Amino acid sequence: MKKKINILIITAILTLLALTSIQAYLIYNTYELKKKAFLNETSEAIGRIDDEVELVIETAEIWGQQFAELLWEYRFKDLEKEELINILRQDKDSLSKVFNRLYQDEVKKSNLGYEIQFKKNIYSIIILDSIANDTVFAFNEDNPIFILGDNFNEKEGYRVSQARFETDFTQADENGIERTFEFRVMTRDRMSIAAWKRIVLRRMAGLLAASALVFLFVMGLFYYSIKNLIKQKKVADVKTDFINNITHELKTPLATLSLASKSLKQKKILDSPKAFENTLGILDRQNSRLQKLIDQVMTNSLGSEELVLNKEQIVDNDYFKNRIDDFELSVQSQDLTIQRNIEPKEVMLRIDTFLFTTALFNILENAVKYGKESIEISINTKLMNNHYEIEISDNGIGIPAEKQKEIFEKFYRVASGNVHNVKGLGLGLYYAKQIIDSHGGSIEVKSDLDKGTTFTIIIPVI
Ligand code: ADP
Repeated sequence: MKKKINILIITAILTLLALTSIQAYLIYNTYELKKKAFLNETSEAIGRIDDEVELVIETAEIWGQQFAELLWEYRFKDLEKEELINILRQDKDSLSKVFNRLYQDEVKKSNLGYEIQFKKNIYSIIILDSIANDTVFAFNEDNPIFILGDNFNEKEGYRVSQARFETDFTQADENGIERTFEFRVMTRDRMSIAAWKRIVLRRMAGLLAASALVFLFVMGLFYYSIKNLIKQKKVADVKTDFINNITHELKTPLATLSLASKSLKQKKILDSPKAFENTLGILDRQNSRLQKLIDQVMTNSLGSEELVLNKEQIVDNDYFKNRIDDFELSVQSQDLTIQRNIEPKEVMLRIDTFLFTTALFNILENAVKYGKESIEISINTKLMNNHYEIEISDNGIGIPAEKQKEIFEKFYRVASGNVHNVKGLGLGLYYAKQIIDSHGGSIEVKSDLDKGTTFTIIIPVI
């Protein structure tokens, strides 16, 4: 059964993990899709500015003119390649600013609702010549020439579009001779949206919340089912234990009864009145033991609310003195000392004496049952405000800390060490607690393994 539950738990955990991974994968995919859609949407909006807004186009054209003039200088004058690249890399101040301002105005107009940075880069410049092409700037993905816009970090951006164009340019030199050359340029437009993650996540908020809810719900269901399963297994175990215990408990008096009744038929017993009397005594004791066992099982099938109390007024000193005396008498052939420390003041208590004595005796009997060779019990009672406290301590085997909260449960028995040797049904403390609860009181246990146990009962004084 335990193995089955373990397999079930492991399977459930694995299934949950698989479900979580699938969900995570789906969420990631949706995230990627949403991101793509968002970037496309933004690219389109930007593309419109680039293609349709006259001022922007004009500024780009002015830049194009300056660029072509520079190339012309390089091609026909003594402008060095490095110098040309340097100028391109550095000289973009005023024009870039104008372009940037125009651009941002347009971005605002398109009401996107978030900020965009935009730039144009040159990736390659080649001067075309029928004899041999001259690569002025070779394709460079890592270190392009930034020309217009905001110079944000290259890695942060996304490509919006790219263009590759070939054109010619003609300009007259100082002698008035027109000189023409052809060139090919590759440019790419990039954008950067600082808040894109937040925007995409916000667009996914519904999905994320629903996923989290479903996940929590499945987790809750899983936790609840496993907890219930373990609880049911525990109940089943407890019931099996109880059946084993009761069978064992019933067997002994029944065997003794059958032996005793058989011996009553023997002549030597019939002839001796003393032996006859003895055997009858055995029959009587075993009979009442059986009766007590059955009573215990019967009464304990009721809950605490069903206990009907027959309360009477008693004086604490007399009550405890008499009951402790009775108990001491009932325990024979044991090395037992009971220390009494009863509240000196006379306190009137209203209790159902029969039931309360049963509860007391159950605790005291346990102190003997789970005691060592020499048993010491100490009973202390005291009045505290309007409560009466009864403390019963023993020097017995003690109860492991993790088992202490379970000992008041029906049929529960601590199953470890030498406790196995002691007879019981696991009902004594359960019944004691029911009785004390129905008196409006409480019972608590403190115990040190191998040192002893202390039960503290508190009942209200009315
Ligand atoms: P039972 O004695 O029939 O087993 P109880 O309900 O009286 O059932 O006690 C429940 C369990 O609590 C016992 O099986 C025992 O393991 C533990 N226990 C109770 N009283 C003591 C005690 N004084 N010292 C050590 N263990 C105790």
